[in-house]
Parts: sequence; C-alpha cells; structure tokens
Amino acid sequence: MAEKVSRRMKILVACEFSGIVRDAFAKRGHDAMRTDRLEIYNKYQGHCAYCGRKITFKQMQVDHYWPKYLAHFQPGQKNHRPDNLMPSCQKCNIHKHRMKPEEWRLELARQVTMLRKNAQFNRALIFGQIEITEKPIIFYFEQLNRRIKNHGGGE
Ligand SMILES: [Zn+2]
Repeated sequence: MAEKVSRRMKILVACEFSGIVRDAFAKRGHDAMRTDRLEIYNKYQGHCAYCGRKITFKQMQVDHYWPKYLAHFQPGQKNHRPDNLMPSCQKCNIHKHRMKPEEWRLELARQVTMLRKNAQFNRALIFGQIEITEKPIIFYFEQLNRRIKNHGGGE
C-alpha cells in the first residue's frame, strides 16, 4: 500500500513538473510569437500589405501570402516562413481567405462587374456620385516596392 502511495506521489510530482515545463514553454512560445507578430506588423510600417490602410498592432491579422493549404501540395514549401506572412487588415484577410494572390487580384477586379448588377450602384453611377476608374489592382506592398525601385539606389 505504501508503495502504491509512493508511486502515486511520483506521478503527481511528474505531472506537476511537466506542468511547469509546459507553462515555461508556452510563455516562451507566446513571447516568440509576439516578437514575430511585431516584425510582421513593422514590415509595412503599420499598414495593411494589401489595401494600405493604417492598422493598429491589435487590429492586424497575419495573412499567408501563399495560402497555408498549398504547403500540402508543395512538400518542402514552408508557408509559415516570415517572408510569406503579411500584415493584413481584417477586411482583406477575410476576403482573400484561401485565394492565391493572383486569384484574389482577379476577384477584386471582378467586384465592379458584380456591382453593376446592383440598382443602387447604377443609380449612384448615373448621378455621378461614384466613378469607375478601371485602375489595375496593385497591392500596397507592390506600390512600395515600385517606389523603392524607382527612387531607391542606382540610376
Ligand atoms: Zn487591407
């Protein structure tokens, strides 16, 4: 009987210890995650990588530029690597969802076509309240890259 109690104590001690270790790992993981999130947030100085709107750190959602599911089809492709993680506003992240970047760009470009089926949109268009620009969809980070290419280093 005494032996049983002793074994039980050992198990309890082991559980307690593993809890401490687990907590320590969880804390380290959390801190690392926060650091990563901060790096991602600072990638475009607090702007959504896609629409360019200013977002707070708390509002930021981390988007996978190449969707996570592609990792299953491309063995060895690490879609969680930092260069694949983009700071995103909630609206962009929700709309992009599982689309590849070019699929999403086409989807965004199709929005005007879909809006033309809406009576209110057409009325607002007729009365000059809105204007269709036909501008290509260029993500904020792409605009930044172009500016850096055009104005940064070299001739
Ligand atoms: Zn956005």
